[in-house]
Amino acid sequence: MAIFANRALTAAGWVENLRLETSGEQITRLTPGAEAQPGDTRVDTLLPALANLHSHAFQRAMAGMTEYRLAGRDSFWTWRDLMYRFTAQLTPEQVQAIAALVYLEMQEAGYAAVGEFHYLHHQPGGQPYDRLAELSDRIMAAAAETGIGLTHLPVLYSYAGVGEKPLEPGQARFGNDVDRFCTLVDQARGALTAMPSDCRVGIAPHSLRATSPTDLAQVVAAQGQGPIHIHIAEQPKEVAEVQAGIGARPVDWLLANAAVDGNWCLIHATHMTEGETRAMAASGAVAGLCPVTEANLGDGPFNGPTYLCAGGAFGVGSDSNILISLTEELRSLEYSQRLRDLSRNVLVLGEGSVGQTLYCGAASGGAQALSRNAGEIAEGKLADLVAIDSQNPALCALRADQLLDGLVFAAKDHVVTDLWSAGRHQVKDGRHVNRDRIIANYQSAIAGLLSGL
Ligand code: ZN
Repeated sequence: MAIFANRALTAAGWVENLRLETSGEQITRLTPGAEAQPGDTRVDTLLPALANLHSHAFQRAMAGMTEYRLAGRDSFWTWRDLMYRFTAQLTPEQVQAIAALVYLEMQEAGYAAVGEFHYLHHQPGGQPYDRLAELSDRIMAAAAETGIGLTHLPVLYSYAGVGEKPLEPGQARFGNDVDRFCTLVDQARGALTAMPSDCRVGIAPHSLRATSPTDLAQVVAAQGQGPIHIHIAEQPKEVAEVQAGIGARPVDWLLANAAVDGNWCLIHATHMTEGETRAMAASGAVAGLCPVTEANLGDGPFNGPTYLCAGGAFGVGSDSNILISLTEELRSLEYSQRLRDLSRNVLVLGEGSVGQTLYCGAASGGAQALSRNAGEIAEGKLADLVAIDSQNPALCALRADQLLDGLVFAAKDHVVTDLWSAGRHQVKDGRHVNRDRIIANYQSAIAGLLSGL
């Protein structure tokens, strides 16, 4: 397959008239200053496509249901209670239909891949399915339907809080001990044989609240050869609970007690001291930032300037999927910093384009977090590619070197015309190739779900 782009952002910088050839999932040859050949897919501006590093797909179906203020002070914890009631109902078919819609929306927004932080494992009430990894299979089926690059991250969720508190009834579908969890991960790895070879299985110890220090060490030793994702410090209440229960703030504790390196992704590294921020950056782990969800849940802003100065890696995810928008995610990240610091152009070192720093940083960090050989356009990399239309009114006044600032701050996702996940051309003319079927399935799944609530 070959793509001809009027301009492209490659690992070597902006080039014009790029002919990009692929073989299967990989970019095999880049020829700048080329002529288009018959049969080439022609696009305007080609960029490396981002990975969405953190998703709980099923939560998309709750979007808009939790924005009504209840009496008293509403909080993350009241949101979580509603989420538990919602999850009590979901069938495997509904889980698959919702995930397919979510992955379609991600691809139309310009994401080539997703890290699915998957904690819904069992039947309502907590009884395992006949096949333990039934719901992991459904996530993989949704990825296969959409063609998105999946890094599947089954979640170890064993306790309701620090100190091995027993799970609450609302958490029954999530729970596993280490042994059963390892069986589940092995089943999910086995299912990879039916998936494209860019798909991965990692693990996700849910948080320091929902695992114990012993369990965390065991599961990392047994299954930690791929990506390891963990929710780390989303809420002040969580930081206080960890500090009281195991004697240190979560990031401090994790860095002191686990061999955190570039395989790790720390989701919601929101509440960190300056020291934790610098130490986390030095560890090589990726900060998994979810600015839209973090704003929606009232989590707080990330300590961006210190982290960036210390050379920390970061990527973005859509987490609760309240809104799936790549441009909104990146601009919310920068705007959260501006609102806190009463300043402009915060997330850039020294001098330079904020849009390019955010976009390219998230491309590289997202690929690292999902263990994808991607994040830039170069020979040998996966063909995770997105094309945007620079003639869109939001962008048409801009030079190439301003396009990413335009994309991040001035455009909506519908400037995306085409998207390839590891060479699979899934979005054409701004529409997912299986859009009608996936949306119809989603609508009928939701009708069934609502009638059961
Ligand atoms: Zn999350």
